[in-house]
Amino acid sequence: METPGRERVPCDLLVSARVVLTQNQDREVLTDGAVAIMGRTIAAVGPAVDLRRDFAPARDLNLGESLLMPGLINAHTHASMTLLRGAADDLPLMDWLNTHIFPLEAKLSPELAHLGALLGCAEMLSFGTTAFLDMYLLERATARAARESGLRAVVGEVLFGFPSPAYRNMEEGLDLVRAMHEELGPSGRVRTAVMPHSLYTCPPELLTKSFALAEELDLLWHTHLAETISETARAQHEFHQYPVEYMLDLGLLSPRSTLAHVVFPTPDEIDILVSTGAHVVHCPESNMKLASGVSPIPDLLAAGVSLGLGTDGPCSNNNLNLFEEMGTAALLHKSEALDPTRITAQQVLDLATLGGAACLNQNGQGQNGLGSLAPGKVADFCALDLTAPNMMPLFDPVAQAVYAATGQEVRLTVVDGVVRYQDGRYTDIDFPLLIQEMDKVRDWVKRNRA
Ligand SMILES: [Zn+2]
Repeated sequence: METPGRERVPCDLLVSARVVLTQNQDREVLTDGAVAIMGRTIAAVGPAVDLRRDFAPARDLNLGESLLMPGLINAHTHASMTLLRGAADDLPLMDWLNTHIFPLEAKLSPELAHLGALLGCAEMLSFGTTAFLDMYLLERATARAARESGLRAVVGEVLFGFPSPAYRNMEEGLDLVRAMHEELGPSGRVRTAVMPHSLYTCPPELLTKSFALAEELDLLWHTHLAETISETARAQHEFHQYPVEYMLDLGLLSPRSTLAHVVFPTPDEIDILVSTGAHVVHCPESNMKLASGVSPIPDLLAAGVSLGLGTDGPCSNNNLNLFEEMGTAALLHKSEALDPTRITAQQVLDLATLGGAACLNQNGQGQNGLGSLAPGKVADFCALDLTAPNMMPLFDPVAQAVYAATGQEVRLTVVDGVVRYQDGRYTDIDFPLLIQEMDKVRDWVKRNRA
């Protein structure tokens, strides 16, 4: 019965679940909790009984034996590369890139890039990912796929010091970023960023010009850095500096800089990352698969570097599953250090949620409020089935999410207050059609690969 004289506040959606893992400042976990959503934003988080007393939702979704938690944030990927998943494996990075990946990508069409990105978006939604940071060729196709699928994304045309299928030279590449920013706008669900590929594919002039453009347009700046020993050796040989020092000297490190990998930082470079506020995205499975090495993430955490988690592209992983990535990250650093206390489940979950929000420069409030379930944040979350055999019994929801979950337990994904995926069905993606299109993709790769 409603309390007499008490008006319930209308809201659009109320989702309740057995456990709500908020990731708020106190890392609060609620039993029999709920989230009330108005428009795109979380209005309240609390005990389900209180929220049902206080709110009159247009839609009331009781998930029962589920674990509701913030959507995961994939802070470094190349979603369209689902096209090439499994097309070339078990090779060294430079051979893999130069002999197998770059020649296929040179022939890529916007239609194929869109199909690949849409498949990537479908995969991410099914694994509870609600936002991703994506660098690729013909990136308008990924922007379109993100818009269509309902995912949140920061997408950037990859900039090289040589022509790509999207531009003939550096100036055209930078103009394309400017045009995409005008098309997508500064604050929507899908935005652009400035993304030079790496120090080994971009001359210093492109790196500095691209950073100036990011400053002018107030955009995120994202690049690969210090991914392999050979890249670090090359920086020492060509520039007589370590990669992070080189970036600092070029004036490229600030809180708008998000660096994928950084597998081999020196202690001085770790200090530079802390003092400049640059973010690092850890991609453990890609680093493991390409045998690039193990980034000293526990050292970076202890020093206070801003860190997120990414899958990297699905060719070097070979999936976009951040639940799996969290488990791998935790196990890798424990194993490497011969110390099970070296990194905790909570630290790893933080990387995939709050850390990812910081890497996207969206760790504020409202439309920039990602990474936790709290009033004023965007309504981006997922829910896991707690009756899956591998999810019972439940003692510690954080440990369950990091060590026991596989991603297959995701039964609901909500982005921007809208249900985008529920119990195997997509709201906005015609998945049966996408399955048919993948036949065409496979034929194209077979015809065109070396
Ligand atoms: Zn990458």
